[in-house]
Amino acid sequence: MPNIVVVGAGVAGLTSALLLSRDKSNKVTIVARHMPGDYDIQYTSPWAGANVLPMSAAPGSRWERETWPELQRLASEVPEAGIHFQKAMVLRRPKKEVSASTVVGKPAALSESLFDGNPWFRELMPDFRDLPADEVLEGYASASEFTSVCINTMLYLPWLVGQCRANGVVLRRAVLAHIADAAAYANLQVQSDGTTTPATGLDHSNTIIVNCTGLLACRLGGVMDSAVQPVRGQVVVVRDELSPMLTSDSVDDAYGEAPQTEIFYNMTRAGGGGTVIGGTYQLGNWASEPDLNTAARLLARMAATHPTLRAAGKTAADLDVIRHGVGLRPYRAGGVRLESEQIDLHGGSGKVWVVHNYGHAGWGYQGSYGCSNRVVELVAEIVGKA
Ligand code: FAD
Repeated sequence: MPNIVVVGAGVAGLTSALLLSRDKSNKVTIVARHMPGDYDIQYTSPWAGANVLPMSAAPGSRWERETWPELQRLASEVPEAGIHFQKAMVLRRPKKEVSASTVVGKPAALSESLFDGNPWFRELMPDFRDLPADEVLEGYASASEFTSVCINTMLYLPWLVGQCRANGVVLRRAVLAHIADAAAYANLQVQSDGTTTPATGLDHSNTIIVNCTGLLACRLGGVMDSAVQPVRGQVVVVRDELSPMLTSDSVDDAYGEAPQTEIFYNMTRAGGGGTVIGGTYQLGNWASEPDLNTAARLLARMAATHPTLRAAGKTAADLDVIRHGVGLRPYRAGGVRLESEQIDLHGGSGKVWVVHNYGHAGWGYQGSYGCSNRVVELVAEIVGKA
């Protein structure tokens, strides 16, 4: 029986643990510094919107293709998961001639393929249509619309924990200095008083560590991945409900360096979770505090653009703010790391397998099932079941 230790309780770790625990021959433990319910700048998942706006390059990755059907099923059939359908509208600005002197840096973009005029995902996302000119919002050259979902992460992450527990997954708080330290939590035993104790004398030939440490993969001993950096995302959450979810390829109001680091989107979370208004896309920025000038611009842009707010004559001052937030997307130069390797256990006591699943930048939810399916395959290859 493989003893699997998943490090991390963000969307990557919880989804990996859930899919692994569906095979009853796996004994799965999750160890994590942060768990659902925590809000910390080093824990990305609670800060996400989160919605599905496909971002991978054409012809589309397996990660998003395999995730969409499951999120669609959860939105249709499992209300307690906290996911609902919302229309998404992708807005494209007119292409402008820009002189070299006006270019300060590469404009911020979640993804170039998301804004492609003929995107690969027109076959994947339901009800996809290119809007006729008279439906395109003022100031934009073209737009497309499709049915997507918005995930209320405050409901969805605890729901994932519940699904894991129902499958026998054991969860334990721990801060690991080195990825090999995770082996000590293999086959953790739950005592009658609810505490957990390590299994004694365990032979680690059956131990597999799954590394879902997100941004902190850049600081974890034995991993220290220098390709991983934060992409800072600042948001404002308001009580107002907005439909559709808008997203635009750029902002056209120049505020210093803002055009390079500010993006434009909104999504209303299921089950009274409020509406997330974004945002920023600041590579290499670890700042945890929201900047209130930035927040004012995000609200003003939304009030000036969103048809629901314009029809109601609402300005930024009318938006009913619940809170400001900042999350750090776990960006990885070269893309997500999904592979296995063998590393040394401490004290020369042999080797242990590690499966890596981190570096999902701004698409960790919308790629979560596809990536976790790959984790299951990699584990099966290690135990010789593939
Ligand atoms: P995390 O959620 O950060 O989890 C990492 C886990 O590892 C934590 O439990 C942590 O405690 C643990 N850990 C790390 N190091 C250690 C250690 N040494 N010892 C023990 N435990 C450790 N994605 C979408 O799909 N759609 C969206 O609309 C979307 N919107 C976003 C908006 C914002 C503002 C932001 C910031 C992100 C958004 N994302 C979105 C991206 C998404 O949130 C991330 O890709 C995803 O949450 C990453 O999840 P993760 O599990 O890899 O990392």
